[in-house]
Amino acid sequence: MEKNISEFREIIKEKRMIDSMLALLQWDLETQTPKGGYKLLSEMIGELSLKSYNLTTSKKILEVIESLKKYEAELDEVTKKEIELLEEEILKIKVIPAEEYKAYSELTAKAQGIWEVAREKNDFESFAPVLEEIFNFNKKFIQYRNLEGDIYSIILNDYEKGMSVEKLDSFFEELKNEIVPLLKDIKSRDREFSKKINFKVEKIEQKKFSEEILKYIGFNLDRGVLSESAHPFTLTVDKNDVRLTTRYFEELPFSSIYSTIHEGGHGIYEQNIADELKDTLLADGASMGIHESQSRFYENVIGRSREFWYGLLSKSKYKYSEIENLSLDEIYKAVNEVSPSLIRVEADELTYSLHIMVRYEIEKGILSGEYQIKDLPRIWNEKMEEYLGVVPETYSEGVLQDVHWSCGLIGYFPSYALGNVYSVQILRAMKKEINIEGALERGELKEIKKWLENKIHRHGKLKTPKELMVLVTGEELNPDYYIEYLKEKYRKIYD
Ligand SMILES: [Zn+2]
Repeated sequence: MEKNISEFREIIKEKRMIDSMLALLQWDLETQTPKGGYKLLSEMIGELSLKSYNLTTSKKILEVIESLKKYEAELDEVTKKEIELLEEEILKIKVIPAEEYKAYSELTAKAQGIWEVAREKNDFESFAPVLEEIFNFNKKFIQYRNLEGDIYSIILNDYEKGMSVEKLDSFFEELKNEIVPLLKDIKSRDREFSKKINFKVEKIEQKKFSEEILKYIGFNLDRGVLSESAHPFTLTVDKNDVRLTTRYFEELPFSSIYSTIHEGGHGIYEQNIADELKDTLLADGASMGIHESQSRFYENVIGRSREFWYGLLSKSKYKYSEIENLSLDEIYKAVNEVSPSLIRVEADELTYSLHIMVRYEIEKGILSGEYQIKDLPRIWNEKMEEYLGVVPETYSEGVLQDVHWSCGLIGYFPSYALGNVYSVQILRAMKKEINIEGALERGELKEIKKWLENKIHRHGKLKTPKELMVLVTGEELNPDYYIEYLKEKYRKIYD
């Protein structure tokens, strides 16, 4: 058995190594590759993905798994879980022909460059054929697996075990019924709190403040870095090398603040997965939804509270002078202003999930064949009008705004909505054990981070999202708390 285990560890190590290399190439692609470099880098990603595919589907790996399963009763919890996840992955990819797997990896790497240019030039037509190809590949890959049920539920379940179209439909339905009327009511009050925080701050100053905030919330900059990209994201090479990006708009200094806090939440999660899980397949978040719960927790649940700003401004050495002239109440209302906007990542907490609903319905429609790619700009605008009451004038502010589809992340968007729901459920559980407001006011975010580390981060992928939520909050995903939270919060802010 020991020999088999050491063989298994060797393979996992090699697999992790390839994943880290792919992550580094991806980092380069999204942060600094010049347009001229996209072609070669995409080919490199394709080549390396093929290596990963060959390793994962190799006869050797199957043999090692089989031999280990003979000792199942003696295996430790981590190895057992790794085998389970690996077998799921093998089932998923071994049905895909190697050349198609490579072609798809190259396509999605290349597509990011095409998307970036299309977004810059407001040119949907140049992106549409690539997008069509990406959706077709995804459909085909699912069909290869020969599973029962509709395609979108299968994709959702890949991102979030236990999730289905049925469950999401009922969540979004409830959200629509509760939030859309509240939103109309708020809009009729016509208050503009946020004008006060839209002053000019030079990029270099914003960068300084962003790094200070990261340290303040508990992201370790000795084991991580903050850079810049068109679309903020977090990427993990290893728990000791966690890379974040943000973006700076000189006239909107709070945009980078909240992007930074959001990615910081992801980064803190990655940095605090238990050391015992390092170099295993479990050194990762429990699911995309749980990952988003951590970023949204930092960004919204605590990051948009009065107490957070009180603590931050009294503790931080560096701050913008314009902020010092504002009262706490002015800051609080400004960062929580409800204003239906075109851009998802800039959206307030109340309207955010409505943006997700637009994307969710579009993905569902394309996968079922109801929608055609060429009609997306029109469909996008119609849905924005219906749910948010705003319509983009350009593709860049509409259907081309997100990087996800170009990366092949179809079915990812619902993770953001789930993350919101989880984050509020986690808040309820945390409140029972620690005085969150007090900790925030004293600027002691360590207490909060420790709690999250202990309850969520350290487990990595050892538990499913459902198991984790039951463990931490005593029940499965429950959207009622989230909807209640939004209603209570915004009724107060808007009297
Ligand atoms: Zn995120």
